Amino acid sequence: MLKTATDTGQGSSSSFDVIVVGAGFAGMYMLHRLRAQGFSVKVLEAAGDVGGTWYWNRYPGARCDVESMSYSFSFDDDLQQEWSWSQRYALQPEILDYARHVADRFDLRRDIQFDTRVSSATFDEAAGRWAITTDGGETLDAAFCVMATGCLSTPKLPEVDGIKNFKGHCVHTGDWPHEGVDFAGKRVALIGTGASGLQAIPVIAEVAGHLTVFQRTANFSVPAWNRPLTDEEEADWKSRYDYWRGRERRTHSGFHNEGGHPSAADLTHDERIAVLEEQWNKGGLLMWNVFSDLMMSREANETAAEFVRDKIRATVEDPDVAELLCPKTHPMGSKRLCVDSNYYETFNRDNVELVDISEQPVERITGQGLVQGGREHGFDVIVFATGFDAMTGTLLKMDIRGRGGEALRQKWQDGPVSYLGIAMAGFPNLFTITGPGSPSVMSHVLMSLELHVDWITDCLVHMREAGVDVIEASEEDETRWTDHLNDVVAGTFYVEADSWYMGANVEGKPRGFMPYIGGAGKYREICTDVAAEGYRGFRFSKASQAVA
Ligand code: FAD
Ligand code: NAP
Repeated sequence: MLKTATDTGQGSSSSFDVIVVGAGFAGMYMLHRLRAQGFSVKVLEAAGDVGGTWYWNRYPGARCDVESMSYSFSFDDDLQQEWSWSQRYALQPEILDYARHVADRFDLRRDIQFDTRVSSATFDEAAGRWAITTDGGETLDAAFCVMATGCLSTPKLPEVDGIKNFKGHCVHTGDWPHEGVDFAGKRVALIGTGASGLQAIPVIAEVAGHLTVFQRTANFSVPAWNRPLTDEEEADWKSRYDYWRGRERRTHSGFHNEGGHPSAADLTHDERIAVLEEQWNKGGLLMWNVFSDLMMSREANETAAEFVRDKIRATVEDPDVAELLCPKTHPMGSKRLCVDSNYYETFNRDNVELVDISEQPVERITGQGLVQGGREHGFDVIVFATGFDAMTGTLLKMDIRGRGGEALRQKWQDGPVSYLGIAMAGFPNLFTITGPGSPSVMSHVLMSLELHVDWITDCLVHMREAGVDVIEASEEDETRWTDHLNDVVAGTFYVEADSWYMGANVEGKPRGFMPYIGGAGKYREICTDVAAEGYRGFRFSKASQAVA
């Protein structure tokens, strides 16, 4: 039977009911829910404080692109009512302040051990418990282990020689120095034009002496039209938060204002342009849903893509630069759509230069700068906005071993498999929050992680009441779910791009679309049904039986 916090004498103990790895939004909420249910919990976090993504990604211009009133926890109405967001899309420091506020408000830090990186997790079949080791050589154990380690938490540097030789300042957007970077008057190189690069470029350009942007692939971006939130907007949200949260939970991507998007097939060309113009003027990620057939109809996608290209051509004064910024190598939306503030306008500045490296990559980093196109470019600062080893990278950095000592690295050698993105056959009592196989990064992530936390908490309470202490996903259901995942994405444009969703940004990583694209609302129904049907697809046992 599971012990309670009182049974274990939590505080000095290294044995817990649950060990949670990660104190981003997922780990924080997991701790809060489990503690309220009387479980003894320890959270281990590599960072020096809470916040996860918003602790690490401190680059200039970093902000959310789900609207702030929505990109926040929904589990506590008092919390929703008392917090005020200043802008439609909050900047990173404000989101980090919010995370700290949540930690203070619910007194979370007393059960979080910071500056502690988990290096391995091993399931002891005889005891039915997980042994967790840290990079500091500590060993802890728990009946359950919850990986709240994030989908975008392992920054990826490019495979280019010489990074260590650079005598200037070299930084990655996903591991930004806390003391900041002084760009004033400096010669700055920025490599990478995904969501992070697009947010950082306009802000760095304002202070740098000269900014050179090295672009391998032009990306589609939509304006955020960011602005301060008005009192009326805030009051409207707060007077009917339940309504907005209800909408978020039912929609495909988890956006409160999603819905009513027509099929391009039903529209004339002029009608399509009118719809695109309307969405462009609203701004933001909903452009991804502008047509219901955007990701399946070549014609719908090309109409939208050309619409965005025309916006770029109308914004960027130099026609050659504009053409380089026009994405032409992948369908719109097959790589993460970006949301920007003055990105394209920035290329009209005299101190900003765009270098196309699609044909001639950066050859090496030198002491003074980098070599590209056969010549050395001198720089004071190099910014790598080169993304993450997403979804699986952080989990596979740890040595996770399940039943019979099977390594997760072995199980996932051809790509991740899981049941619902929550659990894996052969890895009893291990849960992954927003793991591969769940909507996670294809949705409003806070909403999706709340679903997982609630589901896991309910499951552990169910087990305690039923007097069982081992849960394991069945192999058949794991296979069925993986097949379903692949069926849903097959035939869409998502599988065409060399995106991080496909694992294509990391050399040697198996290629396959990792998140579930069947819709966050639909997925919520599936998870709810699985639980209501006695956790269909899972097997329960007692630790003593689990040995057999
Ligand atoms: P994370 O915030 O990544 O937290 C995971 C934590 O686990 C980290 O603190 C990490 O240090 C810790 N950890 C990892 N491995 C170990 C280990 N071995 N040992 C100990 N600790 C470990 N999503 C949206 O829905 N909307 C947005 O607008 C949005 N904007 C984003 C902007 C940026 C720049 C990035 C990178 C991502 C953004 N995301 C957005 C996705 C974002 O990651 C999620 O919204 C959310 O913050 C994830 O929370 P999490 O707790 O699951 O993971
Ligand atoms: P990313 O989308 O993977 O973009 C990385 C960029 O670096 C791409 O342009 C990539 O080019 C380029 N690149 C990688 N390796 C390179 C190399 N060796 N040489 C040259 N260029 C190279 O990473 P990201 O921008 O950090 O974003 C990751 C995800 O985090 C986003 O998709 C999003 O989910 C989340 N995010 C959200 C926000 C937000 O708006 N709230 C902000 C930032 C991040 P290729 O395209 O050619 O590979």
